[in-house]
Amino acid sequence: MRKKILAANWKMNLTHSEALSYFETFLSEIGQVNDLEVVIIPPFTAIPALVLASEKMPAIRIGAQNMHWEKSGAFTGEVSGAMLRALYVKYVIVGHSERRMLFGETDEIVNRKTKAALEAGLRPILCVGETLQERDSNLIEKVLRKQISEGLEDVAPKDQPEIVVAYEPIWAIGTGRTANPAEAEQAHAFIRSVLSELCGAPTADRIRIQYGGSVKPENAEDLMRQKNIDGALVGGASLDPRSFARIIWRTEAALS
Ligand code: PEP
Repeated sequence: MRKKILAANWKMNLTHSEALSYFETFLSEIGQVNDLEVVIIPPFTAIPALVLASEKMPAIRIGAQNMHWEKSGAFTGEVSGAMLRALYVKYVIVGHSERRMLFGETDEIVNRKTKAALEAGLRPILCVGETLQERDSNLIEKVLRKQISEGLEDVAPKDQPEIVVAYEPIWAIGTGRTANPAEAEQAHAFIRSVLSELCGAPTADRIRIQYGGSVKPENAEDLMRQKNIDGALVGGASLDPRSFARIIWRTEAALS
């Protein structure tokens, strides 16, 4: 049984003090979290404050949006996996489509980051997904297979279950357009079949696959009811603590 994982990707939003007031509202909204893992992924600057604020909440983890693959050195502006781990960060996003498109990250770079994250004791959230043009040209499976197999190349079998995959169709990110539950489930089932080829069926069964792309309280429950959808990576709707809390409730409803 895979524990569902809901992650809030704040992108470049909220100062550390805004993050703390978000967190206060969020905690009072969600109450007790059962049977789910919740990950808040703020900008680097708010990580220490949120780690402290969430200390007594084992169901809530703090994540990072990016890291460098080297351990240290002359890489101005970058942050290493060990630096994140030292702050008790648990998850790190790798290969988000914004980083692939705006910062030129290739599958090879994503693979280096994935391995470096695991080496540092972090769990990578590996983002994959097709553009609208690729979808219209029937290239979804080809694109997903390449991103997954190259992203996971040479990852040690013992580390494979630590990985979370996020299926984020690029045409659904920040656009208000969501893959409908059947479309999303089809892509997730395909991703699990690729994971099974690469890692073996027992491991593929353990790897969680999140859906991302305009998830909101109104569509969360139907998406979360799908067999191969193990949670969500939420951008826009996670910036409002009440709306992210409602997504969590809708996920709990899907579990019952
Ligand atoms: C994201 O960027 O990871 C994302 C899913 O964004 P949104 O929910 O705003 O589409």
